[in-house]
Amino acid sequence: MPDKIVLLPDNIANQIAAGEVIQRPASAVKELLENAVDAGATSIYLILADAGKSLIQVIDNGAGMSETDARMCFERHATSKIKSIDDLFHIRTMGFRGEALASIAAVAQVEMKTKRAEDEAGVYIEVENSIVKKQEPVAAPTGTSIAMKNLFFNIPARRNFLKSNAAEMRHIVDEFTRVAMSFPQILFTLTNNGQQLFHLEAGSLKQRIIQLLGNNYNTKLVTVKEDTDYMNIHGFVGKPETAKKTRGDQYFFVNNRFIKSGYLNHAVMSAYQEMIPGDSFPLYVLFIDLEPTQVDVNVHPTKQEIKFEDEKIVYAFVQAAIKHALAQFSITPALDFDLDASIQQLSSIQQPFTEEKKTAASSSSLFKGFTQKHQAHFIEPSQKSELKHWKDFYEAPATESVPATDESAPTLHTDARTKNFEEVELSQLLNTYITVPSGNGFILVHQQAAHERVLYEQLVNASQGKAIPSQQSMFPSTLELTPADAVILEELMPDLQQLGYQIEPFGKNTFVIQGTPADVETGQEKHIIDILIEQYKHFSNDVKFSKREKLIRSLAKQQAVKSGMRLTEREQRQLITDLFNCKQPNISPDGNPTYLEFRQDQLEKMFRS
Ligand code: ADP
Ligand code: MG
Repeated sequence: MPDKIVLLPDNIANQIAAGEVIQRPASAVKELLENAVDAGATSIYLILADAGKSLIQVIDNGAGMSETDARMCFERHATSKIKSIDDLFHIRTMGFRGEALASIAAVAQVEMKTKRAEDEAGVYIEVENSIVKKQEPVAAPTGTSIAMKNLFFNIPARRNFLKSNAAEMRHIVDEFTRVAMSFPQILFTLTNNGQQLFHLEAGSLKQRIIQLLGNNYNTKLVTVKEDTDYMNIHGFVGKPETAKKTRGDQYFFVNNRFIKSGYLNHAVMSAYQEMIPGDSFPLYVLFIDLEPTQVDVNVHPTKQEIKFEDEKIVYAFVQAAIKHALAQFSITPALDFDLDASIQQLSSIQQPFTEEKKTAASSSSLFKGFTQKHQAHFIEPSQKSELKHWKDFYEAPATESVPATDESAPTLHTDARTKNFEEVELSQLLNTYITVPSGNGFILVHQQAAHERVLYEQLVNASQGKAIPSQQSMFPSTLELTPADAVILEELMPDLQQLGYQIEPFGKNTFVIQGTPADVETGQEKHIIDILIEQYKHFSNDVKFSKREKLIRSLAKQQAVKSGMRLTEREQRQLITDLFNCKQPNISPDGNPTYLEFRQDQLEKMFRS
């Protein structure tokens, strides 16, 4: 028997490795933007065709590469950013694995032009399937331009796996937003199919936030800034009134790297306690800087998770800094919340930092305790109770994850379906419930949950069969969105059409609402679409729902009568009739009961015991 093991050729090994790094156009966008940032560029242009499927080009004015480096950079494990394992713990750059360009060259056709300031001429290189096809001198400005064409041209299975252009575009906008947010001093643009979606002039962080997330935040941002020996935090949080139903506008960066951390999110949210409703999310854009030795960025290949050397200190610090910021800007009276005694004594909480105070504070023993490693016991006792629940807190509320077919919801024992609701006496309680007498007791209908169920089924029917007729608006209203929201609306347009919403693109991030279903109140069209996008984002990380399902759930939620709304008798009757005409009248789309039944025998038992 001959031996069997062979070494894979480079291009195949690279293709396999590329699976880790480049899953979709957005991952390539992220890598190329980060390389440009690492090269010290002050302006970075991102140019796409077909949401990156046929072209992703990044042009920067950074350091450029020498001729040899230009060839080397496509090799696997080729990096200028670390030289030894030790360097890994002092990383200040975004990249360090030396895998991105090798991966990109393995799955696309790449053309690169690069020149350093000190060189006369630049280099032009073409790579395909990890093989250099062409290399020649070229006249070029200082900096680098990399164009990757036809992503996955050589791996049809993966190419087919890509989503619609609108969906891929949304991922790209997410990545672009994260990089652009963390480097406001750099000019960024994003162009897709010749249309410029973003043009972000270099400026302050506040300006960048407004450019990216919308002008309405202009007067609604509260500065966060605390410096200690151990770590610094700076950035902005939204005033409580800007809290939204979705967690979309929340960004954490550690040493300028975007991260996701339920733990830190909880720290921020707990600082808002009592200031915002439980199911809403404030904006935050926060940058934590600490010694690279105190974090391990190496936990996850796409580097969004992070491990801190001392998590508890980071938690307490973040929470305290946000409380401080919110109090200082007198969003709540400063004494309105009870800080844990141990945290309260931290100088960063007690007063703003002046140089003088800083010196005084940093010599105090408490401050030292805070800034020294392994001193978490200072804050541990009081944090314990909260920490126990932080997981529940950031995970989606249970109601959303209950499938619509939950059998645990009560079913009606009375024969409500065949009942003639014209006859029965209904009454509304607390502007929230409707009582309906039933043969042997009564049922208590939750008007909002019930209406959500009714709308949900109507919309499902409409999306499967004949489209809901749309009523032309006499005065079509225009809608201006942030670029990110515009991408979402584009994605939803075909489905919205089916559901009676006629919306047309009208130039940059602007849309015209031509028509809506007949029951939408005139003047409300714009508001409805705004809220719809919010709702949709709320569901958008939920992989178990299809796009259409998310849209329908969003619409049902948004249009349902709310608890606390007074209903006329006719409206009550309509609702009850519609509800019991539903296929599944007993639970809301979220899986909550739509009504509870009270039988006389049960009531009697209750009174007797
Ligand atoms: P990493 O960023 O992890 O080092 P990459 O594969 O992304 O690995 O890039 C390899 C090397 O190529 C980088 O270390 C850098 O030296 C060089 N390089 C990549 N992109 C650029 C760029 N836009 N400008 C200058 N040098 C670059
Ligand atoms: Mg890189």
